[in-house]
Amino acid sequence: MISMFTIENALIIMLVLSFIALILIFITGNNKKSYITKEFYSLGTLNQLKVYGRNAEKSIEEAIDKLNEIDIKMSVFKENSEISKLNRYSGKKPQIVSRDTYRVIEKAIKYCSLSKGAFDITIRPIVALWGIGKESAHIPEIKEIKEKLKLVNYKNIVLDENSNSVFLKNEKQEIDVGGIAKGYAADEVKNILTKNKIKSALINLGGNIVVLGKKVDGTPWNVGIQDPFRPRGEFVLTLSLINKSVVTSGNYERYFEQQGKKFQHIMDPSTGYPSESEILSATIISDYSIDGDGLSTGVYIMGIHKAVKLIEETKGVEAIFITKSKEIYVTSGMKDNFTLTKDEFLYKNKISEEI
Ligand code: ADP
Ligand code: MG
Repeated sequence: MISMFTIENALIIMLVLSFIALILIFITGNNKKSYITKEFYSLGTLNQLKVYGRNAEKSIEEAIDKLNEIDIKMSVFKENSEISKLNRYSGKKPQIVSRDTYRVIEKAIKYCSLSKGAFDITIRPIVALWGIGKESAHIPEIKEIKEKLKLVNYKNIVLDENSNSVFLKNEKQEIDVGGIAKGYAADEVKNILTKNKIKSALINLGGNIVVLGKKVDGTPWNVGIQDPFRPRGEFVLTLSLINKSVVTSGNYERYFEQQGKKFQHIMDPSTGYPSESEILSATIISDYSIDGDGLSTGVYIMGIHKAVKLIEETKGVEAIFITKSKEIYVTSGMKDNFTLTKDEFLYKNKISEEI
């Protein structure tokens, strides 16, 4: 038996030990690898991509190129964008647009219709009249508002799938896809990352968030929902998510003040004035960000009762609403997936029975 402890055996033990040590070094070395984070300006906002994996750098570059391309095609502020061209030719001639722009308009119309016109991308003449977000922002004359409101009707957008063309039936009609394009852009970034075999990433396009996979430590991503009463970065609750989009429309980011009143940038197509619903922030959690973006702007306007009803009826989407009276409504599919971080808010979890 004693002969078992020979030099040979000692060598084997040493070999096994060094092998274990090598594995340990490999694991710890791997853990040290971190996300590549890049912040940049595009689509009129500050964006952040946080990407983990071998192709991280390359896929971030590709994603930024795609975002700039979407910006050039769809910005209402760029004279040569496809949207500006459509607007110039309203009432005159259909315009052929790229697949990207066509798809965004097509999806937008779906949400205009689903929200019964609360979301309406032909709102541009009203948005331009108020100028919210610009130096020139002011309360317009009632007469002007009435005049511009006549131009607002998404049913006048004519699509032709065969030729990829879009036509605005009435002269002076103008569209603005600012309420949905970021969602489309976030989905496109996700596609680019997935094509590059990225399994863990955080996409943040000016607050439109998409989480890809889990965090690299294997836990879900935590996404905070902004406290609409407090400075940016203070959260009312946090969500624990894997592979989801989180989009919030809120009144606390872009607004102007006149006569002691705040006027924010989401307009109510039924009045021509900034929306005055009791909702301060509407967050949609969905698989695709284009759905979240299209829905969040619409439900923000329609008010809490209709908003909760619409989201509960729509398959595959969940929502969180924060109201002026500090109530938080969370739709049924989300109620086990969040952590409240503030106590002064009243959490309502039995939405359907209470309203
Ligand atoms: P944000 O751009 O702040 O992320 P939203 O996705 O809610 O927020 O979109 C707001 C933008 O949508 C506005 O800046 C404006 O261009 C456009 N918009 C405003 N009101 C409406 C509306 N009722 N329907 C469609 N688009 C709107
Ligand atoms: Mg939106």
